[in-house]
Amino acid sequence: MAKLVMLVDDSDVLRKITVFNLKKNGYEVVEATNGQEAIDKLSEGIKPDLMLLDIMMPKMDGFTVLKKLKENEEWKNIPVIVLTAKGGEEDERTALELGATRVMTKPFSPIQLVQVIKQVIGDA
Ligand SMILES: [Mg+2]
Repeated sequence: MAKLVMLVDDSDVLRKITVFNLKKNGYEVVEATNGQEAIDKLSEGIKPDLMLLDIMMPKMDGFTVLKKLKENEEWKNIPVIVLTAKGGEEDERTALELGATRVMTKPFSPIQLVQVIKQVIGDA
């Protein structure tokens, strides 16, 4: 069965490119445009195999999402790849401290992203 990736980012362009790339590589994708929407979808029972999580987002940022995941028995084992802006070494450290599995610095290539996803959860 195809792996389900939850893509959480407020950038329409990043989501559009990433959804195309992931689907092309055999993954199923559910999108959220901010942290609150991600938490709402998890609460509705969506169970992603992996989350791609932006930090800077309206309504609820990625750090808050990470904290909520790690506090929740059902969600704490979802692997999270955090997507940070260039020059965000501080954000990278914070994300890893909060339990992110990996951190990727934007901009990254579609190939890089799929490679890291495969390292974290295996093939689609
Ligand atoms: Mg953002």
